[in-house]
Amino acid sequence: MNDPRPAFIETDVSLQPYNTFRFDYQAQYFALIETIEQLVQAIAWAKSCTLPVTVLGGGSNLLIQGDVAGLVLLNHIKRLTRLEETLDSALIEFGAGEVWHDSVAWAVEQGLGGIENLALIPGSVGAAPVQNIGAYGVEVKDVIAAIQVLDVADLSLHTLAPEDCAFGYRESRFKHEWRERYVITSVTLRLSKQPLLTLEYGGLKNAVSEGAGIRQVFDAVCEIRRSKLPDPAQLANSGSFFKNPVVDAECYAAIKAKFPNVVAFAQAQQWKLAAGWLNDQAGWKGYRGQGVGVYEKQALVLVNYDCTKADALLALEQSIKDSVQAMFGVELEREPVLLGAASCR
Ligand SMILES: Cc1cc2nc3c(=O)[nH]c(=O)nc-3n(C[C@H](O)[C@H](O)[C@H](O)COP(=O)(O)OP(=O)(O)OC[C@H]3O[C@@H](n4cnc5c(N)ncnc54)[C@H](O)[C@@H]3O)c2cc1C
Repeated sequence: MNDPRPAFIETDVSLQPYNTFRFDYQAQYFALIETIEQLVQAIAWAKSCTLPVTVLGGGSNLLIQGDVAGLVLLNHIKRLTRLEETLDSALIEFGAGEVWHDSVAWAVEQGLGGIENLALIPGSVGAAPVQNIGAYGVEVKDVIAAIQVLDVADLSLHTLAPEDCAFGYRESRFKHEWRERYVITSVTLRLSKQPLLTLEYGGLKNAVSEGAGIRQVFDAVCEIRRSKLPDPAQLANSGSFFKNPVVDAECYAAIKAKFPNVVAFAQAQQWKLAAGWLNDQAGWKGYRGQGVGVYEKQALVLVNYDCTKADALLALEQSIKDSVQAMFGVELEREPVLLGAASCR
């Protein structure tokens, strides 16, 4: 028999406020979760009804394309604990429901370095390991010391080491085989009291003066990002819509022969192509049609002007993929996570 539904779980709730594309689909069941006890109670109930469980943070890396069956949990588990201090570093545990940017700002305020390049990335701390967020030459995996998770199978808490998580470029096990298994409840970061700055990417070096510290880097990153990326509160989007495709040397040489000014970065024996550049060359920058479009300052960002459903955006995605494939022979891969059942079209 099903357990009685906890009072804090609502039915048929619009997810429009909870995804930065602002698509309006419904969660069959929905709960705001502020404690681990609530999390356990909600998942135990869902299991008793054999309902799937989906966890959301800030909804800034989602493409919802239909109503979401089962229980959707909005993670607001807050916590900030200094676990350990040495002369060089501090180990800080952040609750998964903390806002990522606020956590970065707090660290900078404390003089703790390592995540200042990741300022202004929207979303929650708990989602940061899911796609191993990265910007300006830094990835969150570089500072993760431990991840606390709730195992949905037996409702027990575990601590995972970063080596367990198979972190890669916008990748981890949480996006794949662990997607329905673990809910991240906290992330522990090892932050540095003697920070080494990373300034080699995205014009950061020119944006800070000689002898800069983490505060200046944080401010510069915020300024550059504000000038280049749309604020989801003003224009609905989910940041980079495509991953930068990684190709072998032969493919890169063929593209370079046809397009000498191709933007790419060497990576071991491979090349990472700038997906924004590919989209731009294919003529998409600033495109607008059917209520959706491509941001005028960055062709990697798809935007939603006034659609409540995802169909037009999915069609735009396909058109961009087709044109980039035809022009460069390269397949683009979507970065945001797809949620919800596809509608019948
Ligand atoms: C303007 C803009 C700029 C961006 N810039 C960057 C950037 O520079 N670099 C970058 O890497 N990303 C960037 N992003 C993408 C996004 O901000 C990050 O991926 C962020 O980590 C998503 O956090 P979220 O809380 O919004 O996750 P959500 O969108 O809510 O969730 C994303 C995925 O994580 C899962 N998830 C969320 N919380 C948990 C949890 N506690 N436990 C288990 N699974 C969970 C969800 O189920 C979903 O599969 C940008 C997005 C926008 C809108």
